[in-house]
Amino acid sequence: MKLKDTKLTKDELKQKVDQYMIETYERFDFIAETAKDMYIYDEEGTPYLDFYAGIAVNSAGNCNEKVVAAVKDQVSDLIHTFNYPYTIPQVLLAEKICTNIGMDKIFFQNSGTEANEAMIKMARKYGVEKYGPDRYNIVTARMSFHGRTFGAMSATGQPDNACQIGFGEMTPGFSYADFNNLDSFKAAVNENTIAILIEPVQGEGGVHPATMEFMTGIRALCDEKGLLLLLDEVQTGWCRTGAIMSYMNYGVKPDIVSMAKAMGGGMPIGAICATDEVAKAFTMGSHGTTYGGHPVSTAASLAQITELLDRDLAGNAKEMGTYFMDKLKGLPHVKEVRGQGLLIGVEFEDSISGVDIKHGVMEKHLLITAIGKNIIRMIPPLIVTKEDCDQAYGIIESTVKELAFAN
Ligand SMILES: *Cc1c(COP(=O)(O)O)cnc(C)c1O
Repeated sequence: MKLKDTKLTKDELKQKVDQYMIETYERFDFIAETAKDMYIYDEEGTPYLDFYAGIAVNSAGNCNEKVVAAVKDQVSDLIHTFNYPYTIPQVLLAEKICTNIGMDKIFFQNSGTEANEAMIKMARKYGVEKYGPDRYNIVTARMSFHGRTFGAMSATGQPDNACQIGFGEMTPGFSYADFNNLDSFKAAVNENTIAILIEPVQGEGGVHPATMEFMTGIRALCDEKGLLLLLDEVQTGWCRTGAIMSYMNYGVKPDIVSMAKAMGGGMPIGAICATDEVAKAFTMGSHGTTYGGHPVSTAASLAQITELLDRDLAGNAKEMGTYFMDKLKGLPHVKEVRGQGLLIGVEFEDSISGVDIKHGVMEKHLLITAIGKNIIRMIPPLIVTKEDCDQAYGIIESTVKELAFAN
């Protein structure tokens, strides 16, 4: 839908936002009307260089042609029917995902938080049924982010964050340890623990990749204590980190992995994949979903994943990620550049605000995200080129210089 078709001005539209909408995000002051590949276009046709990709979603490019065609095709055949009959894109997608990431079984959901709920539920049911009624505790990492529904929110180790303050008690069954600190996890595990849940790269927590030593140590700890390794790959999954799944960068395999964001090419979808052994915990009636495995979302996902794999966008993520991260180290007032593939965080000195950079570069038509006080995160579509990275770098550099000068 475009502004010119509504007979409204931009200000009138914004008035309706104020009047009717519950707002929990600070908005960019433009209307996103259309998008193609690396660009989003506003109501005047101004292009914005997209280095956030709808939060690591539009990995094969905005409005990828193959994804658009798959959606149009499926939407005219069958929009929704529920999971009583078989539907074709769902089955083909299940095979595509399981065979490409080395997992046995899949269950489809609609979002990242919902996939994590399914992962938590499956692990808890597996523990209770296999070992007894008290074996359902899950150890997660401080500064993690797992989503906004109550289970995923309680798994999120950020008691001082606005995402947890004011909601009363969190769901019991979680304890927390320090990320990248194996001893801290060893100390947090007890006789009631059934699983360890971590992100391979903490995204919302400030872009902190797990070290090789930590990830392989956690896998070994799980094996030694009979624990399940649960990986939240909602942000890292599907080629973002230079491998199809981030765990492939470490040579470890999870017992359950959750995914969402990039897998749907912009359509809402999430999933968990599990080993045969653990997947048995979900039996008739023990879990379900009205929309999970939706025909249009699974058709989009099949097209998206085919694009990501056939064009080796994991390879491009690795190459461009290395190039861009090296370059970003040359920015003024930088404290640290962190990341894996094209999930990149730049932490600045305390005097430079990440939110100010985000808004500053937006004025120059570059879109990025900010986390915490002084971190910016860049998660562009994985089709990004050197020229795009150079252009983004120039805009960030001049913005940081202006902000430093204004201080
Ligand atoms: C975005 C994100 C989620 C939540 O996904 P939604 O689709 O927004 O529910 C969960 N875990 C991680 C690591 C994420 O980045």
